[in-house]
Amino acid sequence: MTQPRTVIEGAYVATVDIAGTEYTSGHVVIDGREIVAVGAGPAPDWATADASRQVTRIDGTGHLLTPGLINTHHHLYQWLTRGLAQDAILFDWLTALYPTWSRITADTVGAGALGGMAVGALSGCTTMGDHHYVFPRGSGDILGSIVAAADDLGVRLHATRGSMDLGASQGGLPPDFAVETTADALQASADAVARFHDPEREAMVKIAIAPCSPFSVTADLLRESAVLARSLGVRLHTHGSETVEEDAFCLERFGRTPTEYLDDLGWLGDDVWMAHCVHLDERAIARFAATGTGVAHCPSSNARLAAGIAPVPQLLAAGVPVGLGVDGSASNESGQLGTEIRMSVLVNRLRAGADGMSGRSGLHLATMGGARVLGRDRELGSIEVGKLADLALWKIDGVEHAGIVDPVAALTLGAQPPLTLLLVDGRAVVRDGELVRVAEREVARGVATAVETLLGA
Ligand SMILES: [Zn+2]
Repeated sequence: MTQPRTVIEGAYVATVDIAGTEYTSGHVVIDGREIVAVGAGPAPDWATADASRQVTRIDGTGHLLTPGLINTHHHLYQWLTRGLAQDAILFDWLTALYPTWSRITADTVGAGALGGMAVGALSGCTTMGDHHYVFPRGSGDILGSIVAAADDLGVRLHATRGSMDLGASQGGLPPDFAVETTADALQASADAVARFHDPEREAMVKIAIAPCSPFSVTADLLRESAVLARSLGVRLHTHGSETVEEDAFCLERFGRTPTEYLDDLGWLGDDVWMAHCVHLDERAIARFAATGTGVAHCPSSNARLAAGIAPVPQLLAAGVPVGLGVDGSASNESGQLGTEIRMSVLVNRLRAGADGMSGRSGLHLATMGGARVLGRDRELGSIEVGKLADLALWKIDGVEHAGIVDPVAALTLGAQPPLTLLLVDGRAVVRDGELVRVAEREVARGVATAVETLLGA
């Protein structure tokens, strides 16, 4: 069977390939799920004059075309608890929210995940990373409902099976009712990989194993999770070095910084990515670089919880893979990945100076950087022949951006441009600013009902 072909022409194309190639007016040709041509000017004749194929031509004039954005850290269930604990630092914020989170169910999380992913897609996100670590007893198939929501919407999902086994009675931060046993967490992690993980390059769903953080998980669970993930060939994810309080916790309890502690437990490596990494000293940055450990930079969340600013320019200079994340919506009510690019550029300049981070570096974090962090840089993250067709077509001739001298700056420094088209695996997920496969109004209604169920309980 011949695959349908899509031809986009006339757009400003930012490929984010290794040379940073951009075309003022370029073309991209897609056969089925793969990019088969990219270059300057109109598409070649063979692409449009093929009588054996159904060809869809898209006029990209007045648009910026970028790779689809890759979110490397989220907690989608928190879409249900936006707007709570607005003025707290991390540990107080967590303590305030754990009791509510312990009442989530597969149904409420499914509705929240669809809401969070819908907003992500509408802001250019084609690959959604999710870190789910709260599994109350009797709450049903939470991971299954997140996977189903991604499938309904049509986005790629990097779900993780998170866990917590260090309750307050053992010196951890979460209350005992919010944690599992070590054995249950490990078994559930293995089950999640068996059920949902697709090892193929075209995968729409991948699973990683993700104990929550050094202050909510035992050393045993961290160590055993790393062994398990490596035996199953999946990646590892956790939170690390987010706050000064976490530093103090690790120094007091283990006599180690968070990075030293995680290093001891087998948690540095090119199959690991960690969220935040705000408080890394030079030695920690060197260890991340030497081991290829990735970082999910979450500037809005770090600002909302007053955690600090991650040393992104230093991490990039050292060669550490860095991607962008929105983090959970309870600490970043926006959930938009497109605007997180601008946030990353602005926040890093506050720490590193005006030349500390360029707009194009921000775009790189959100695309190739994220792909590398998730281990998918061979098939995602840039517009190149042979890569999967995950693309965002941003409208920049409207009132927000008409006349802007640098189309890339429209996205990296300006208001988020409207999305004319979002393709995932060659298929439309957003068209003319609207979700294609689910009804936006119903997604919103589902979220409102789930919040009522959760908070009214
Ligand atoms: Zn997080």
